[in-house]
Amino acid sequence: MIGIVLVAHSEKLAQGVRDIVVQMVGDDAPIAAAGGTDNPDSPIGADPLRVMSAIEAVYSDDGVLVLMDLGSAIMSAEAAIEFLPPEEQEHIFLCEAPLVEGAIAAAVQAMGGSDIERVMAEARSALAAKATQLEPILRIKPSPAQAGAPPAEQPAAFPEGSAITLITPNRLGLHARPAAKLVTILNRFQADVRITREGVTVNAHSLNQVVTLGARQGDELTFHAAGRDAQAALAAIIALAEENFGDDDSEAPVGIAINDAVGGVDAGSDDELYGVPAAEGVAIGPVFRHQPALPPVVARAAEAPAVEWARLEAAISEALAELEQIRTVTKEQAGGVQAVIFDAQILMLQDPELQAQVQRLLFSSDLGPEIGPITAEAAWRQVIEEVAAAYRRLDDAYLQARVVDVIDVGQRVLRRLTGIEAAPLALECPSILVTRELTPSDAAALDPSQVLGIITEQGGATSHSAILARALGIPAVTGVVGALERLLDGQVVGLDGEQGRVWPAPGEDQMAALRAQRRRWLEQRATARREGEKPAITQDGRALEIAANISGPDEVTGALANGAEGVGLFRTEFLFMGRSAAPGEDEQTAAYARVAATLAGRPLIVRTLDIGGDKPIPYLDAGVEANPFLGRRGVRYCLDHPALFKTQLRALLRAGAEHPLKIMLPMVSVVEEVARAKELLAVAQDELESEGIAFTPPLEMGVMIETPAAVLAADQLAPEVDFFSIGSNDLTQYIMAADRANAGVAKLASSFQPTVLRAIEQVVQAGHEAGIWVGLCGELAANIATVPLLVGLGLDELSMSSPAIPEVKHAIRNLTMPQATEIARHALSLSSAAAVEAYLMDRGSDGLG
Ligand code: PEP
Ligand code: MG
Repeated sequence: MIGIVLVAHSEKLAQGVRDIVVQMVGDDAPIAAAGGTDNPDSPIGADPLRVMSAIEAVYSDDGVLVLMDLGSAIMSAEAAIEFLPPEEQEHIFLCEAPLVEGAIAAAVQAMGGSDIERVMAEARSALAAKATQLEPILRIKPSPAQAGAPPAEQPAAFPEGSAITLITPNRLGLHARPAAKLVTILNRFQADVRITREGVTVNAHSLNQVVTLGARQGDELTFHAAGRDAQAALAAIIALAEENFGDDDSEAPVGIAINDAVGGVDAGSDDELYGVPAAEGVAIGPVFRHQPALPPVVARAAEAPAVEWARLEAAISEALAELEQIRTVTKEQAGGVQAVIFDAQILMLQDPELQAQVQRLLFSSDLGPEIGPITAEAAWRQVIEEVAAAYRRLDDAYLQARVVDVIDVGQRVLRRLTGIEAAPLALECPSILVTRELTPSDAAALDPSQVLGIITEQGGATSHSAILARALGIPAVTGVVGALERLLDGQVVGLDGEQGRVWPAPGEDQMAALRAQRRRWLEQRATARREGEKPAITQDGRALEIAANISGPDEVTGALANGAEGVGLFRTEFLFMGRSAAPGEDEQTAAYARVAATLAGRPLIVRTLDIGGDKPIPYLDAGVEANPFLGRRGVRYCLDHPALFKTQLRALLRAGAEHPLKIMLPMVSVVEEVARAKELLAVAQDELESEGIAFTPPLEMGVMIETPAAVLAADQLAPEVDFFSIGSNDLTQYIMAADRANAGVAKLASSFQPTVLRAIEQVVQAGHEAGIWVGLCGELAANIATVPLLVGLGLDELSMSSPAIPEVKHAIRNLTMPQATEIARHALSLSSAAAVEAYLMDRGSDGLG
C-alpha cells in the first residue's frame, strides 16, 4: 500500500494533520508525521532526519507520497531522500498538493489500494471540492473588454470562473509603476491573485515577480483569483487595465527611446558623448564616480534560523518605516510622481515571495555543512542578488534599470542588520557625479552645493534622478552609455544638460565656450529667481501672500530663494519621524526657532502635529484602526494625548519669545476642538510663566479646513480663530469620500470636483464675513492652471511646495480681478471635474493663467 508522509515545520501541525486523516480513514493507514526539530531552543523547522525516519516507517515498494507545508520543507524532504538507499529513492514522490486536503484525499485513495499515480492525482485535485463550494461566490462575469477572448487555461488550484484574460494595454507593459499600482490595489483585497503569461504563472502580490514577468503591450495576461474578495479583486484589475494601468501613453519616454537607440548605435565619440537632456544647465568639473552595490557581509556564527528570521523581520519593518517617511517627505516636497518610486520600493520590501525565498534559505540551514547555517544578512544578500540578477536578465532596458531599486532596498535592510552604513555619497569637492543610476536614497541625500552636474548611464528624462536634478537646479545628462568606464575619477569634463552632451576632455576652445554658456545659464537662473522675489499683485492691485510649505528647518533657505514670502505650512510631524522617540521640548523649541530665525521676521505658520491617516509614527502608539483616515488624526490625537500636545505648545510658545509665530490646528471638525486646544495653550502659558521661562503667545491661531464638518461649521469656527487655511488635499478626500492615495479613485479624488470648489467658496465667504483671512495650502495651490480660479474665489494667501512659487507669482501678476472673478464664476457653474480642469487649462493657454 502507498505510504504517506506529512512534513511540517511544526511537530504539532504534522501530528494534527495526521490525527485528522486517521480519524477519517482509520489508524491502520500507513501515515507518518515528520514535523519540527530535535532542538528544544529552536523547535520550528523541517528536520531531514525526522523526514527520513517517517519515510522508513511507512515505506513499501508501492511508493511513498510526501506532502509538505511550506516550500522550505521541500529541501528537507529532498535531503531525506538522499539519505535513503538508492533502490528506495525511486519510490519516493514529493507532491505539491495542499497539506491537509491533499493528505485526506491521498489517504482515501491509498486505503482503496490505488497506485501511486492515482494517489498523487487525487491529492493534487484536492482543492477542487473547496473550490466548487466557493465557486458561486468567486464567479465573476467577463468584462466587455475580454468578451471573445480565448478561455484561459487555469491552474488546477483555482476555481473555474474566477479568472479574466486581458491584453496588456499600455505601451510599456507591466513595468515598475503599473506593477506597483496593481500590487497595491490587490493588496487591499482578501484574495490570492496569480497572473499567467505564456504559461508562466506568478504571484500578483509580489512586485518583483510581476515586473520580472516581463509583460509587454499586447501580451495576453490571465488573472486568477481565489478568496473572499476574488470578484472585487478581478473587477479592480479590469478597472485598472481600462485606465491603461495608470500609464499616460501620450508622455514620450524620452530616455527609453534614446536608451534603446543607443544600444550600440550613436553613443558619441572619444571627444563627445551623447545622452538624454535631463536637466538644463552647463557644468564643468572633476568626475566623481559612484557605483552603488551591495556591501559584502562580515562572517559571523549564525543563530537558530528562527532567531535569524526574527532579526530579519525586525530589520525589514524598520526599513519599511524609514521608506514610508522618505516617501512622505518626497511627496510633500517634490510631488507624487517622485514619491511613486518609494511606493515601488515599499512593495518590494513587502513582497511575500521575496520574504518566502529568504525564509526558505534560513530554514534550510539545518541541512548540513553545504548549505548552512546561514545568517540573516547572508541570506538576505543572496536573495537580493538573485532578484537583481532576474531584473538584469530582462530584455527591456527600462525594466533592467529598476535593478537600482532592488539594490537600494537590499542595502537599506543590510544596514539595519549589520549596523554598517553604506558608504555615503560624499563628494570631497564640488564635482560632476557619474553613476549608473542614482538610487532614490542617494538622490534624496544629495548635497546640491557639492554636485555641479550629474551624468548617469541609465535613466531618461523622467527617471527620478532627472526629476530630482531639475528640482535642485543641477545640470544633468542621463542615459550616457559606458560613462563609468569612459570618465575617470578626477578627470575634468563638461556637460550641457539642455542638449544632452558630455565632453570627456574639453580642449581650450571648448572649455572657453562651456564657461561662457555656464555664465549665461547662471545669469538666467538668477533672473528667474529675481522674478520670484517680486510680489504677487494682480494688475489692478490685489496682493496675495505667497508662502511655502516646508517639512523642516533645512528647507527654509531654498523656499526663500524661490521667492516665498513666508512659511504658510510647517508640517511638524516630520520632526517626529524616522526616530524612536518624540523630540523633547528643547529640541522642538530649537527647530521652530531655527525656522523662524531663517525667515527673519517673515510670517511663519506652524501646524501642530498631524499624525495618523497615512502618517503613522510607530513609537506614538495610535493603536490599530480599521479606518485610520477616519480615526484619531491630527488634533484629535493631540487632544487625546495632552502631555505630548502640551510639550509641542510649550516649545512653540518658547520659540515665539524670539520670533513670534502663528499656530495652526489640523483636522479640526468641531468648535470644541479649538476650545480645548486653546485651554491647553493657556495651561502651557501659565506653566511657563510660573517657571519663569520666556515665551510669547502666538501672533495668531488658525485652523485648517480639511473636513466637510469644518466647511459646514466655518461660520461658527471663524469667530474663534484668526485665520483659515484650506487643506485641499484632505478636504477633497473627505468631501468625495475618496482616499487621496488610492489610484482606483483618483478621478473622484480631484480637487477640481465642483463640490470641492463650492466648499472653498463657502469657506472664503464665511471667513471674510467674520473678518479673518483665508489661505489654501493643499496641492491645488501649486497647480498653475488654478491660479485665476483661486484668486477669483477670493483667497488671501496661497502656500505651496516652493519650486512652484515663481510661476504662481508670475501668473498672479498677469491677472486682473474682474478676469479672475469671471473665471471662478464660470468654473463654479460647471458640473464635472473634467470640465473644470479642461476649462482652466484652456484659460491658461489663453495667456490669462
Ligand atoms: C492638506 O490636507 O491639504 C494639507 C495641506 O495637509 P497634508 O497634505 O499635510 O495632510
Ligand atoms: Mg491635511
